[in-house]
Amino acid sequence: MSVSQQELNDIREGVIKLCATFPMEYWRALDRERRYPTDFVRALTEAGYLSCLIPEEFGGSGLGISAACAILEEIQASGANGSQCHAQMYTMGTVLRHGNPSQKAMYLPAIAKGELRLQAFGVTEPTAGTDTTSIRTAAVKQGDKYIVNGQKVWTSRAEHSDLMLLLARTTSRDQVAKKTEGISVFIVDMRKALGKGLTIRPIRTMINHGTTEVFFDNMEVPAANLLGEEGKGFRYILDGMNAERILIAAECIGDAKWFIKKASAYANERKVFGRPIGQNQGVQFPIARAYMAMRAAELMVHKAAEMYENKEPCGAEANMAKQIASEASWQAADMCLQTHGGYGFAEEYDIERKFRETRLYQIAPISTNLVLSYVAEHVLGLPRSY
Ligand SMILES: Cc1cc2nc3c(=O)[nH]c(=O)nc-3n(C[C@H](O)[C@H](O)[C@H](O)COP(=O)(O)OP(=O)(O)OC[C@H]3O[C@@H](n4cnc5c(N)ncnc54)[C@H](O)[C@@H]3O)c2cc1C
Repeated sequence: MSVSQQELNDIREGVIKLCATFPMEYWRALDRERRYPTDFVRALTEAGYLSCLIPEEFGGSGLGISAACAILEEIQASGANGSQCHAQMYTMGTVLRHGNPSQKAMYLPAIAKGELRLQAFGVTEPTAGTDTTSIRTAAVKQGDKYIVNGQKVWTSRAEHSDLMLLLARTTSRDQVAKKTEGISVFIVDMRKALGKGLTIRPIRTMINHGTTEVFFDNMEVPAANLLGEEGKGFRYILDGMNAERILIAAECIGDAKWFIKKASAYANERKVFGRPIGQNQGVQFPIARAYMAMRAAELMVHKAAEMYENKEPCGAEANMAKQIASEASWQAADMCLQTHGGYGFAEEYDIERKFRETRLYQIAPISTNLVLSYVAEHVLGLPRSY
């Protein structure tokens, strides 16, 4: 369901108000101590923001992706870090599209209520990297269960989630006609599996992201937890990628807006050589340039969201939106740091934290080169490179 401009404005205002109750010192402390924003995520869940894409029949508000974009954009534009919980919004899409009626009834209402957290998405593996069809984690069927062995890396929020959506091979790559076949998707109840074949190890990174590596050693998953048909999982994951890219792009727009606002304010107020630094065109032009890049990217995000809501094919637009929005946020981040001179490095200005955080989006959930090759090959008809 798409919503009116007035409704979108109301949603934005609500998010801004909620975020204002979590001051920058909250985020600084979490970043310093690499802690999870449990209170913030609870507040977002209770306000219904994280379940906005779950249809009303399953207890969500059934709003469209434009509403979800508005929510994530405002979280980022407030200076917060929504990447610690954004997956709760879209990971459930695979259950919604490909789950059977009993799986949907079991998981979706509980996710909407906040009783179950589906924040973890286990795709990436150390050896496969971006080449997802090379994953080695294997699920072998034994009676009414699957036995899973293997490893995932960068499984974010696994320690703060009850469920994980897991991608595993059910037929090895050398036994399928097409490499995209033989891959399946499972819902893993990590509360039951932890210590029984499932091990989670945190990875300390340059940002506070709660990311982990996850090991499976004869972990049992009930066969009833297979989503859709066995062997068709790669397709299911691809189906969810457009939504993920559009939402991440919206986060980048929020980040860019935060950097631009912060830089403009500082450039007006900081006086050097007896005048505001923003009076120098060498300072004001990079701010104007970053603003223009952000506005252009914002249009592409809106276009991709509109096409997604109209159920039009939008792979190219979703990818391009994610690419140019992540470049715009990085341009704005670099500009903001430069505008602040030495003070940009001080923790209390929050710029260095947001600078680190926004850099992620050129790597995850898909790195820029892979988006470029998608556009080169699928939109422009250039030869395949891999
Ligand atoms: C903080 C963080 C959180 C993450 N969260 C999750 C998560 O929750 N779940 C999950 O499954 N994954 C997650 N990821 C993984 C992320 O999606 C991958 O890191 C990303 O897709 C790139 O994979 P890789 O790191 O293996 O890089 P690689 O595939 O090793 O690529 C390395 C570099 O080579 C380039 N490259 C590779 N192949 C080509 C090619 N054919 N042509 C041109 N360039 C190429 C890439 O663009 C990249 O720049 C996360 C990563 C990070 C850092």
